[in-house]
Amino acid sequence: MIDAAIFDRCVSCGLCLPACPTYQETMTETLGPRGRISLIKAMALGELEPDSPGFQATIGGCLGCRACEAACPSGVAYGELLEQARERIEHAVVPSRSLPKRMIRTLLLRDIFAHPWMLRASAAIARFGQRLGLDRLLVLTGVARLLGLERAIALAPRFDGTSFVAKGQRFAAHRVSKTVALHVGCIASVAFAKLHEATIRVLNHAHCTVVVPAGQGCCGAIAAHAGERTDARERAKAVIAAFESSGASIYVTNVAGCGAALKEYGTWFAHDAEWSERARTFSAAVRDITELLDEQFAASPPKLGPLKCSVAYQDPCHLAHAQRITAAPRRLLEMIPAMTLVPLRESSLCCGGAGVYNLTQPDMSDRLRARKIETIIESGAQVLATANPGCAIQIEAGLRERTLRLPVMHVVELLDEAFSAYDASTRSRPASASAMVR
Ligand code: SF4
Ligand code: SF4
Repeated sequence: MIDAAIFDRCVSCGLCLPACPTYQETMTETLGPRGRISLIKAMALGELEPDSPGFQATIGGCLGCRACEAACPSGVAYGELLEQARERIEHAVVPSRSLPKRMIRTLLLRDIFAHPWMLRASAAIARFGQRLGLDRLLVLTGVARLLGLERAIALAPRFDGTSFVAKGQRFAAHRVSKTVALHVGCIASVAFAKLHEATIRVLNHAHCTVVVPAGQGCCGAIAAHAGERTDARERAKAVIAAFESSGASIYVTNVAGCGAALKEYGTWFAHDAEWSERARTFSAAVRDITELLDEQFAASPPKLGPLKCSVAYQDPCHLAHAQRITAAPRRLLEMIPAMTLVPLRESSLCCGGAGVYNLTQPDMSDRLRARKIETIIESGAQVLATANPGCAIQIEAGLRERTLRLPVMHVVELLDEAFSAYDASTRSRPASASAMVR
């Protein structure tokens, strides 16, 4: 069901239009938030079929970046409206979907993301292919194009064989002010294990003991964005149950997209008598890593060594717009001695990554990525910082395409290097965290 209370708040003022990347690129009303909202309303009123090609194109073309939501003075909850519309489309198109497509979708959304071992096996296969150069061979021979895998291969992160398995580990800080539980996610657990290592080291420096609850997994965002909200809630229940038994008072994530979903579990379960209270309590405990570190370092300033470089910060949509966090990551970067934070024009305009948007909507995704790369070059920065691995994947692919060698790093990774620089300068490096990853 579409919640009419959401679209009824829209007064069609158009103040959201300048914030919308797809509107900015096309200047087309139906590819902007106001047009999309009016079409969702028409569909809810029965004036438009959810599986009509035009409606699907309009909704499918939306990045879900929620820049419109942050810009809207009337408080239209566009993100929630979008997910309800995606769910209606999904229900309408399921019967006409071919069996092979249904099987692939089930494998990707229900099986792989629900079972961490399947995710690790998939990552191991991808790594094997990358190491042997099979990915390049598939592209060079044209087989990748025939199989529709060309973009997936170009965008895939380099798998380094490490993964982070959540099994109830505990990483104690020397001086403890908080115990926090880390969400390691699905793709992040196999493609960004080293980011999790860095996150734990930095949290320990910030006087936080870190626990990693067993039984967690995908937050459900990928399923929700695909219109599979029932599956998304099943993933969410597993996450809630795992974290409730962790004993931690704060739940932290280093992936902005996951954080936005975790903070919205209260909305996801608003009409579920059994889970609504638990979901609300859970969401209230969630913090993005930059939000938490900003609080911790304000109370107890960190000892950081110098990193002599210029850095531009790219705002991830799900941090800046969905969670409204823009100052904390910048404050953290400004704490690093010798580092210069340079401005990045349009830093909060979507890079075109947007989950799997870069696979499903290649033309618009490429346009936005090229636009982002231009602003990065213009900034003159030596390093691009972000706070979301999805943005890093998209921007790195754009830099590779232009043969530009510019490191893309998470804010936490830069902080980790600054802590190492300080420790090296005092010759008392912290214990290696390599044992955390296997
Ligand atoms: S979504 Fe908000 S800003 Fe956009 S047209 Fe509606 S009321 Fe105006
Ligand atoms: S979510 Fe982003 S792409 Fe979609 S309408 Fe809003 S601003 Fe535009």
